Amino acid sequence: MNDKHFDVIVIGGGPAGLTAGIYLARAKTKALILNEGTVGGQMILTHEIANYPGVESISGYQLSNVMKNQAKNFGCVIKSNVRITNLELNSEVKRIEVNNKDIYTADAVIISTGGRSRPLNVPGEEKFKGKGISYCATCDGDFFQDKNIIVVGGGNSALEEAVSLTKYASSVTVVHQFDNFQAFPHAVEEAEKNSKIKFIMESKIIEFIGNEKLEKVLIQNQATKEIIEMNIDGVFIFIGYMPNTEKFIDKIELNKWGEIVTKANLETSISGVFAAGDSIQKRYRQITTAVADGTIAALGAIEYLNEVKQLQKV
Ligand SMILES: Cc1cc2nc3c(=O)[nH]c(=O)nc-3n(C[C@H](O)[C@H](O)[C@H](O)COP(=O)(O)OP(=O)(O)OC[C@H]3O[C@@H](n4cnc5c(N)ncnc54)[C@H](O)[C@@H]3O)c2cc1C
Repeated sequence: MNDKHFDVIVIGGGPAGLTAGIYLARAKTKALILNEGTVGGQMILTHEIANYPGVESISGYQLSNVMKNQAKNFGCVIKSNVRITNLELNSEVKRIEVNNKDIYTADAVIISTGGRSRPLNVPGEEKFKGKGISYCATCDGDFFQDKNIIVVGGGNSALEEAVSLTKYASSVTVVHQFDNFQAFPHAVEEAEKNSKIKFIMESKIIEFIGNEKLEKVLIQNQATKEIIEMNIDGVFIFIGYMPNTEKFIDKIELNKWGEIVTKANLETSISGVFAAGDSIQKRYRQITTAVADGTIAALGAIEYLNEVKQLQKV
């Protein structure tokens, strides 16, 4: 038996990929998860997950470990810290080259490479991610009860999330680089009439400062170049989202934002190639939606494998 051939290879080991691994392996499908970096995806960036049904509170790291062990215990093979160096998805047998040397093949593939929030790329941002800096109000808003926070951005999500964060925070300061908003007028109006929200326009955060946690930021006015220092408990950054789909450009259909276009069963534009989680074209990006996608893609892939087997018998 070729130990490098699998029924299904899952690219990406976040909640979507791990769930696909659980469903595939439990159905006795020979499955391999290939993950760049540490398994768990964006879950491991959050210190507490309090909105995953059935679990009152758990760290992202712990939840990743539970999912990873579930998949492994059913027989799913997981390889982390790998780099995909070449991909051939169009052929009947899909071929994936890893680390410029190992070749794995499969009859079906699930892409669950997730995504990342667009970063500000300023000093201190990496250090304080999950320690005062967040990219997800739904996930982390509750941790800023009665705190003073900043929201960065001027589009719809920034202003809508600024309003939603006033449920928790005592003050929300919107810092936006331009002198006008890109958001729809009704979103601007909602934010402007909220007494907890203040605005610092034509300004950018240029540095995040603190020790263990974020404590303050430096904000620079883009017109005058004046720099102010502001003590702050948290900063939420909403300046856009980037799916991790660069490897699939010109290989499968992506929309203009680089998100993978899928059918209802989460099959992509290529037969036998499915996609799940934050990397696909969809509105809401949460762990619950990722695990739901992982389930659908795995079941879709299993059905595809059965159909292929039936055709081979004819
Ligand atoms: C700070 C933060 C806190 C959050 N808190 C919550 C919360 O409390 N509750 C909630 O429901 N949601 C939360 N979210 C959102 C949630 O984590 C995501 O929606 C979810 O993780 C998406 O799952 P995914 O499997 O699609 O992708 P990801 O979690 O992004 O996982 C994708 C995986 O694919 C890997 N990968 C990427 N490219 C490649 C490649 N080319 N080859 C191989 N592997 C690759 C990555 O390394 C990663 O492990 C949070 C997000 C962030 C950033």
